[in-house]
Amino acid sequence: MTDYTKYSFWLETCGEELTPRPALQASIDVDVAVLGGGYTGLWTAYYLLKHDPGLKVAVLEKEIIGFGASGRNGGWCSSKFPVTPAMLEQRYGREAARSLMLAMNGAVDEVGRVCAEEEIDAHFHKGGILTMARGKHHISALHSAFDGYCRLGLQDQYQLLSAGEARERVRVTDTCGALYARENASLHPGRLVRGLAHAIERRGGVIYEGTEVTDYQGGSSPGLITRSGVARARKAVVLAGEAYLTRIPRLHRVVLPVYSLISLTEPLSAEQWNQIGWANRESLASFNYTVDYLTRTVDGRILFGSRGAPYRMGSKISEEQDRHQETHARIQRLTREWFPMLGGTKFTHSWGGAVGMPRDWMPMGNFDASKKIASARGYTGQGVSTTNLLGRILAELIAEKRTPLSQLPPAQRQSPQWEREPARWLAVRYMQAAFMRIDEAGKKGRRPLDASIAEYIGRH
Ligand SMILES: Cc1cc2nc3c(=O)[nH]c(=O)nc-3n(C[C@H](O)[C@H](O)[C@H](O)COP(=O)(O)OP(=O)(O)OC[C@H]3O[C@@H](n4cnc5c(N)ncnc54)[C@H](O)[C@@H]3O)c2cc1C
Repeated sequence: MTDYTKYSFWLETCGEELTPRPALQASIDVDVAVLGGGYTGLWTAYYLLKHDPGLKVAVLEKEIIGFGASGRNGGWCSSKFPVTPAMLEQRYGREAARSLMLAMNGAVDEVGRVCAEEEIDAHFHKGGILTMARGKHHISALHSAFDGYCRLGLQDQYQLLSAGEARERVRVTDTCGALYARENASLHPGRLVRGLAHAIERRGGVIYEGTEVTDYQGGSSPGLITRSGVARARKAVVLAGEAYLTRIPRLHRVVLPVYSLISLTEPLSAEQWNQIGWANRESLASFNYTVDYLTRTVDGRILFGSRGAPYRMGSKISEEQDRHQETHARIQRLTREWFPMLGGTKFTHSWGGAVGMPRDWMPMGNFDASKKIASARGYTGQGVSTTNLLGRILAELIAEKRTPLSQLPPAQRQSPQWEREPARWLAVRYMQAAFMRIDEAGKKGRRPLDASIAEYIGRH
């Protein structure tokens, strides 16, 4: 039997045994059949059942609930969206961009509300996000991020902090200033995903674990196909496998699996926390292209996450990438750089997982009523609250309700497919290397010659 605790600290500490639920044994007839037991599949199932308690909903999960990114993430339940406010405004106009940002605030609160209502002890804590300018090269990004929110009329939720004000909150080296974003929370991802599964079961949903969906069909006989039978779905099939969808041949190019890796320290001493501060447990980041995200856990550890494990030809997803040693070593070096007071503090856990990146960086929640096929995906590492929003949107679309939610930019859209190999590999590896070089050079006050080219490609 697989020891699922090895996939993350969150699965290890989710407070329950990870013995899989029974697998699907034969064909079944339901109203809605969901592929994937991560947040997307579970939020969709949850809202469908909440609005129509009589509905028959089945969730089919290849491994266990929370096996994917939902059981492995950095614990940011944030109102940040994978596409920046400036880019949203450019693509969809000011009003649509603003509505989406407000809906993201709403999603953070909704996650907290459901945790309270369903008694999911997911350590939901609304501490906000502090994005640090670590060096002069981050200052222009700091101001343009703030300006992007101001243009949408959201300035009351964001605060520019001086270096001194930022350091009063948390002592991070090289801090030149920070952006504080109030409407954000942190949580225990494993407890959330496992708790949601129980909430669905209490509402009559059925979850099959150890059940791989090998294909799906829509039209007159929609269903999810497995080796032991078909989950025939009268109303809709929901494809909620995020990065893993690339393993289904006809969905191979809908997203790109990008690896995000995490290292976690042992609990720090009271003396270390005195030196660091960070009393409000904000989520922390910087303006680096290689992405850094930090969480102070409830039990007093520092979680540091970053991108870096190289993309593999053919969108390969493997456990070897979860444990890419070079990236974990870099993350641990960075953690000590941010917090020199860590001294000999040990790292007790290292893990990683794949996020799904769409070709235009824009998440989507789509329901084709003629085919009875729904899917939500493409969160690029910002999915803890975005899945809640997309889950509600899918549930509305499937129930044929039209509310302002299902008019938001992610609803009823498709991203373009990724390029075929080897063009995909060449472009992605170039971008990964370029972003690493831009960050490294920035620390020395330099800029690589191709920085503008990489930034241009990154926006397109
Ligand atoms: C290391 C890491 C850190 C992250 N940090 C953050 C963060 O701090 N904040 C944030 O907002 N987001 C973060 N994310 C992203 C976030 O976790 C995801 O966007 C979100 O969990 C996506 O949920 P999902 O349900 O769509 O996908 P997943 O959680 O990946 O779930 C998909 C599920 O589908 C199952 N599945 C796939 N294919 C099949 C099949 N054929 N048959 C049956 N089952 C199948 C998988 O086993 C999996 O359980 C992070 C992700 C990673 C990997």
